[in-house]
Amino acid sequence: MNTTVAKFGGTSIADAAHFRKIREIVAEDSARRFLVVSAPGKRNASDVKVTDLLLSVYEKAAEEENFEPGLLLVRDRFLGIIRGLFEKEQLQKEEEMLSETIRALRDRLLSDPDKAYTASRGEYLAARILADYLGYTFVDPEWCVCFTEDGVLDLPMTLRTMGAALRPLQNAVIAGFYGADANARIHTFERGGSDVTGALAARAVSADLYENWTDVPGLLAADPRIVPDPKTVDFLSYRELRTLSYMGASVLHTDSVLPASDIGIPINIRSTEDPKNPGTMIVRKLPKGGLRRAVTGVAGRKGMSVIQVEKVMTSDGSGFASNILESLKKRNLPFEHCLTGIDTITLVIRSDLLAPVKESLLRELTEELQPDYISIRDELSTIAVVGEKGTDSSDANVQVLQALTRAGIEITTINQGAGKLNLLIGVPEGSYEDAVRAVYSVIKEETE
Ligand code: ASP
Repeated sequence: MNTTVAKFGGTSIADAAHFRKIREIVAEDSARRFLVVSAPGKRNASDVKVTDLLLSVYEKAAEEENFEPGLLLVRDRFLGIIRGLFEKEQLQKEEEMLSETIRALRDRLLSDPDKAYTASRGEYLAARILADYLGYTFVDPEWCVCFTEDGVLDLPMTLRTMGAALRPLQNAVIAGFYGADANARIHTFERGGSDVTGALAARAVSADLYENWTDVPGLLAADPRIVPDPKTVDFLSYRELRTLSYMGASVLHTDSVLPASDIGIPINIRSTEDPKNPGTMIVRKLPKGGLRRAVTGVAGRKGMSVIQVEKVMTSDGSGFASNILESLKKRNLPFEHCLTGIDTITLVIRSDLLAPVKESLLRELTEELQPDYISIRDELSTIAVVGEKGTDSSDANVQVLQALTRAGIEITTINQGAGKLNLLIGVPEGSYEDAVRAVYSVIKEETE
């Protein structure tokens, strides 16, 4: 039997109507055996996420201020959900479970307020309610997501324990976002960490698929704040995901899916608002044929600086590049990418990281390397264009560069490594939006 782990994010579990949607989604495919949930998120733009409510309750308790009104808001959020889902005796049972959870939290907040424990109660309650609603087993990650005492995830132990907890079960709902250490102290992942729990569950049961249900129908090919109504990407490789998420595309973070992608489990981003939409499938290798697009997506970042150093005849000797990199290393200054030519090196660096050490770095490079030319240019941005299908020809590069040229955009750097299309293009910050739109026009043309 196929096994899918389906993770539902905050907006997908925000109210009783969404719990009902989840039931429909699960009923459509018996492979959806293991569900991972976040805490209820925003129901509308002015709403507050349950995790944020809980964190402000914790802050108040830690300051010995009155946290009761905040706690009541949390209780009322769940009460609204429970009352929309259950009736009679079951409703009473759920209300008792909720009161008991809120009572235990209140006691803890009064005696020994704990941030992680408080934050975790949103996922705990959401998972318990969903499990009861679907007739699934509730699995508390307190017993199977294992952290070391320093709060670092113990991956081998987690996979063993989670596998042992889940494998014998036909169906289960697992609370996302938290686990516990050997002293049974609750730890949470970073914000948004239910994605990690989902990936861990998928790996622990060697799932065939990891579904990530959210409120958008997949990864958008460009930032919708820049490109109106961009297309959704149908297939994406892990590598493309890495580049786009590193460059700021709002999509799953690579490290949050690593446990699943590490062993090649495909990840499917889906929307509870549009469940028939197949969403975006993220895979190790893109399927052959069919998809004839050269460019998959575009993302980018502003706030870049470029250091350019030139010295004649340095390409013949060794040490020029390593000396420059050594000066960066001494200052703990990472670079985004590095371009080398004959007797010249160009480094692209985040301006906010460069600023504090700019003067000293410039002085050191000038004194030690005695370059023929050295300059720093700020207010640049980098645009990443990815598309693994565009490898066979340089058409994609040509199309992208032509589109940028047609739009009258100055190209300050181009970085194209060997292999798949993974083009990093530098443009002035002022042309950033126009450049993204120009690259997107290539994607749009291709998919139409
Ligand atoms: N509820 C947590 C948060 O709001 C974790 C999650 O949603 O994944 O960050």
